[in-house]
Amino acid sequence: MASPPSRTAVAILGATGSIGTATADVLQHLGAPWKAVALSAHTRLPELAAMCQQLQPEMVAATCDHAFQSFDKGCLPSACQLLAGPQSLVEIAQSPHVDTVVAAVVGSAGLMSTLAAAESGKRVALANKEALVVAGNLLSNAIRQGQGELIPVDSEHSAIFQAIQAGRPTEVERIILTASGGPFRTWSRDRIASATVEDALDHPTWQMGRKITIDSATMMNKALEVIEAHWLFDLPADKIEVVVHPQSVIHSMVEFVDGSVIAQLSPPDMRLPIQYALTFPDRETCPCPKMNWSETMRFDFEPADRDRFPALELGWEVIRGGGTCGAVLNAANEAAVELFLDGQIAFTEIVQGCRRILEEHHFSPNPSLEELLRLDRWARQEIKRWASLV
Ligand code: NDP
Ligand code: MG
Repeated sequence: MASPPSRTAVAILGATGSIGTATADVLQHLGAPWKAVALSAHTRLPELAAMCQQLQPEMVAATCDHAFQSFDKGCLPSACQLLAGPQSLVEIAQSPHVDTVVAAVVGSAGLMSTLAAAESGKRVALANKEALVVAGNLLSNAIRQGQGELIPVDSEHSAIFQAIQAGRPTEVERIILTASGGPFRTWSRDRIASATVEDALDHPTWQMGRKITIDSATMMNKALEVIEAHWLFDLPADKIEVVVHPQSVIHSMVEFVDGSVIAQLSPPDMRLPIQYALTFPDRETCPCPKMNWSETMRFDFEPADRDRFPALELGWEVIRGGGTCGAVLNAANEAAVELFLDGQIAFTEIVQGCRRILEEHHFSPNPSLEELLRLDRWARQEIKRWASLV
């Protein structure tokens, strides 16, 4: 019998981010033969250089031209090959020296490298949910054609990926994605309307990058995750549900046709789903804290409030709409979040703008990659134009 392909040569795309640094931690914990063979960063190049000193990768990519110009290349280890520009992510994703690509770039900037990794038959440990939201169909085809693997890193999808192994695909009744509810879970509609950037960045249970933290506050993150689940598990919109679980310990659940519900639990720490995406189907000891069953604890569940969090509905709408809807929603949201962080629009205008751009866009049912990229640019421009008018 042929031995399974090696997975231990890992590229971390988006190495300086929250998921990227957690992945580096996991690789150091796992030790040899696991190795970070390639790292990338966009603007935080001094941090990247420090990671290179520690992890000694073969390749390193700096994707932001502006940051690259002022970067002191002398602080990289001498054996490390330096690549520059956005295309360098694709080069790394295709490299024969790489077995596993951890897709941890934020936003649709991660799409081309995720596609390239899939086409090259790599294991893709996917944190970059935006790639699936934008081009779920193309990415699923690329995985099939390249004979690669797409393993979720997102904690909810990792939980479902683990729980779903308890039955056959035809036996799945529905999946239930849990949501922390974010910082505004208990806030009134009026209070949410006047939320500041600081309020929105104050997440109760997870430490994450700024973009996903704002997405958690609007609950757009859960809408993106509903779409992500649709593509990962090949499920229609009406088999995907969302429930608020403020403790963020039950990471999601699968209900089977007989009524059994299988859940995955662990203290909130992304290193566990990252490590599982690397080692699957094996499990290894993990540096994360474990559940403490000698303490009294409680798990709460509440229905998700689609009135106070109108972003949620967009998840199911985009699945039903298909075609170009995911790309347009994602780009509008990325641009709107930036505008909010820049103080140019109010918190509730993030979702208002997204809905408007989605409704206005020129829909196509079976778009090519070029069409998706064009609409991504269009939606970003439109939301800026809309923001200057509101
Ligand atoms: P961060 O903002 O912390 O990190 C993003 C990474 O992407 C950084 O390395 C950044 O480089 C790089 N980057 C940013 N813009 C570009 C660009 N235009 N081109 C290339 N690289 C770029 O984000 P997170 O780690 O929080 O999130 C990463 C992905 O993982 C997102 O898709 C998010 O939705 C997903 N995710 C995150 C979770 C979390 O707990 N953080 C949980 C589940 C999913 P630099 O910093 O050098 O500028
Ligand atoms: Mg998640």
